[in-house]
Amino acid sequence: MDNLSNLPNPDGFFGNYGGKFVPETLMYALKELDEIYAKLKNDPKFLKEIDQDLVQFVGRPSPLYFAKRLTDHYSGPQIWLKREDLNHTGAHKINNTVGQILLAKAMGKKRIIAETGAGQHGVATATVAARLGLECHIYMGAADVKRQSLNVYRIKLLGAKVHAVDSGTATLKDALNEAMRDWVTNIEDTYYIIGSVTGPHPYPMIVRDFNAIVGRELKEQSLSLFSQYPDAIIACVGGGSNAMGIFYPFLQDEDVDLIGVEAAGRGLQSGEHAAPLNDGKPGILHGAKSYLMQDTNGQVVDTHSISAGLDYPGVGPEHSNLKDAGRANYIAVDDDEVLTSFHQVTKLEGIMPALETAHAFAALDHIVKNYSSNQYLVINVSGRGDKDINTVATMDGISLD
Ligand SMILES: *Cc1c(COP(=O)(O)O)cnc(C)c1O
Repeated sequence: MDNLSNLPNPDGFFGNYGGKFVPETLMYALKELDEIYAKLKNDPKFLKEIDQDLVQFVGRPSPLYFAKRLTDHYSGPQIWLKREDLNHTGAHKINNTVGQILLAKAMGKKRIIAETGAGQHGVATATVAARLGLECHIYMGAADVKRQSLNVYRIKLLGAKVHAVDSGTATLKDALNEAMRDWVTNIEDTYYIIGSVTGPHPYPMIVRDFNAIVGRELKEQSLSLFSQYPDAIIACVGGGSNAMGIFYPFLQDEDVDLIGVEAAGRGLQSGEHAAPLNDGKPGILHGAKSYLMQDTNGQVVDTHSISAGLDYPGVGPEHSNLKDAGRANYIAVDDDEVLTSFHQVTKLEGIMPALETAHAFAALDHIVKNYSSNQYLVINVSGRGDKDINTVATMDGISLD
């Protein structure tokens, strides 16, 4: 197999995917970002500053935890949890924003913008902007503003402005369009913190690198807690940043199965889902080539998922390449399986996962049978479920008013 860890190439391609398909105005800004990042990523002072923020502000390392009751329930392989839900602000997203805000600072930018789906990236961005005293604007689909009202209020409390986007399905894809438009208009003083391994080069690489701390910690923790690397690592995939962060350090360790879990929504057959790697075709969206949900005319189609953070028609280009290379497998689980899994994990482990994360747990029903009791599975617990309580209550037919 090619050395997958050496990608992207200098043009930003992971095999056939990635690149930068953007207007001329953005080309210069992307090149500037690429150059600054190339310099800083080997700068000991910069690396020390990030390390210190990850320890003292984010609360790293996150624990690797043995899920005993879940393991007993399946009576198969040992199930361990990488607890990104314990990070400051409640998800893996903060790993990326603490890094990117330092890039913004190094570039002398005074204004921060970001898009958000479930609101977790909006919260993580508003948090680091508040900490550095920078003006911050968050774009969010109007549908998501409604279903994630708790996070919208958190973002406002942190001093950022929320812009509700009404176009299209009023979800993450539309928020991304608006954020790109703002960036083109205000390119001089504005830094755009993209929240997943998506968008034009160098973003997929930068966001992966800042999240790869998760996989690096897992390497050390698994050796010290069970004396081997995991036999499989399971992570949910929206844009794909939590999955890429935990997969990346293991790409060369081919005995470790990498399993990504997409949102099958109302079922892959229904067409109402958000699973481009399971049921999509390569195309271009938001500045990069990748698997994409589109109709026969190449138009991007509407998506559906119970979880706002996975409700996106595209996926990071590196995942598209890992799929084609056969290095990672991508399955999909539907909304009903996710809701069942949310309740099961909460009751068995006393850990309430985000609905995004519940996709990774729901995958256990599909894959546990492939592993024996002397093997080790690790689930990336990308975030906690507090933000989703209203959605869960509604699905269960319970009114909280
Ligand atoms: C945003 C989010 C996701 C999806 O984003 P990825 O880039 O695919 O990781 C998953 N889980 C949680 C908790 C999130 O907040």
